[in-house]
Amino acid sequence: MVHVSPLWINRKQTFPRLKENINADILVIGGGISGVSAAYHLAHKRKRVVLIEKNLIASGTTGRGTGILEPGFEMDFVDMVKIYGLRLANKFWRTTMKSLQEIKTVIKRHKIACDLENTGSIMFASQEKEIPLLKKDALLRIRNHHSSKLYLHEDVGKIVNANVPAIMFSSIEAIFNQEKFVVGLARHCAKYMQVYEETPALSIYKTQGGYRVKTPHGIISTHAIILTAYASGMKFLKSKHALSHDICYEIATKPLTKEQLRSISWRKGHCIWPLGRSYDYIRLTKDKRLIVGGEDSEIALNKQRSEKHFRRLQNFLIRVFPQLYDIEIDYKWTGTIYLRKRDFPELGQKGNIFYSFAQGGHGLLTGFYGGHLLAHLALGKLDKDFRVLTG
Ligand SMILES: Cc1cc2nc3c(=O)[nH]c(=O)nc-3n(C[C@H](O)[C@H](O)[C@H](O)COP(=O)(O)OP(=O)(O)OC[C@H]3O[C@@H](n4cnc5c(N)ncnc54)[C@H](O)[C@@H]3O)c2cc1C
Repeated sequence: MVHVSPLWINRKQTFPRLKENINADILVIGGGISGVSAAYHLAHKRKRVVLIEKNLIASGTTGRGTGILEPGFEMDFVDMVKIYGLRLANKFWRTTMKSLQEIKTVIKRHKIACDLENTGSIMFASQEKEIPLLKKDALLRIRNHHSSKLYLHEDVGKIVNANVPAIMFSSIEAIFNQEKFVVGLARHCAKYMQVYEETPALSIYKTQGGYRVKTPHGIISTHAIILTAYASGMKFLKSKHALSHDICYEIATKPLTKEQLRSISWRKGHCIWPLGRSYDYIRLTKDKRLIVGGEDSEIALNKQRSEKHFRRLQNFLIRVFPQLYDIEIDYKWTGTIYLRKRDFPELGQKGNIFYSFAQGGHGLLTGFYGGHLLAHLALGKLDKDFRVLTG
């Protein structure tokens, strides 16, 4: 039977529920990658910090994702330059690259077991006629100091045994288990602050000295708030920002047999996606499952439509790896991403509420770095990267 739940989330409650009234200097609302990063960057700052999460830490969008750490936007570099201009595209790329380096440093520093692998990534041409565009993308990347290398026709097999005429390999991207990372980081935070699960913020009232935040079993009085509660954050702010949202679909196969693994000869399990549709992707997990994702739809869920999207993902997988025609699917799930018009996340300040939402489909790096920048902002420091990250 196929599990209809994210592959990553199978943890019981780790952190307590709030059961009393407490005081804080800074309250972080939302325990996804953005909120936990903000809490982490406040952990040594001699402030009383409290983090509350409505459900379990990393059980929101963060725990529903694919765990691909990819600098830039989810698109070809040629498109990125076309849409945002070379200067902004490069600046954004460098900022998200910084986030990737920081995540790696944090994992190493705190020995967080989260299956991080520096795999790099592959972008492929689906047909011969796409090869010139792939070459153009590779050239533009090289000129702008993003490493990449092309493999054509029979040389593709040196990297992966996929049914495609050309690939571009980039060595920068990484993959990890984002749920383990965020929970590991929250465990570290809990040494320095109070971390609560199953503690939703129900309402926020302005008081003379700050804010009063109501939860089901306790009130938190705080000077400042970092609000990273995704869509419900907008409700508290009464924000009228124009956001769109997409439903994203994912499937995960059963662990591949040795024979199946040999047949695709995919040594490093890089994330792999087609040119022009970087929302479609395949990655290999530590326990040798393939996750396929990226079938997105603006239309609300309904069972019939969902099945069509899940089937399309399976067909995509078999097109790239025809040798896996009989592969069995073990998990399928969906998640919602919120997007601002220009793909950049929404970060800002209203009174002493510092907010972040709409991290989009590439939000692990922007969310982590956004949390870092919000922590600084709450301490009175506006980082120069703030404008780059928000476009
Ligand atoms: C299917 C899918 C695949 C993806 N794959 C990737 C990928 O490979 N790489 C990548 O970079 N990005 C990916 N993303 C996007 C990425 O996961 C998100 O952009 C990122 O996780 C957003 O993190 P966040 O902390 O801002 O939000 P969230 O993780 O949603 O965190 C917000 C938290 O706030 C909590 N909350 C809400 N209301 C309240 C309240 N009232 N009180 C307290 N807590 C509250 C929620 O429960 C939630 O845990 C993917 C997304 C999806 C859906």
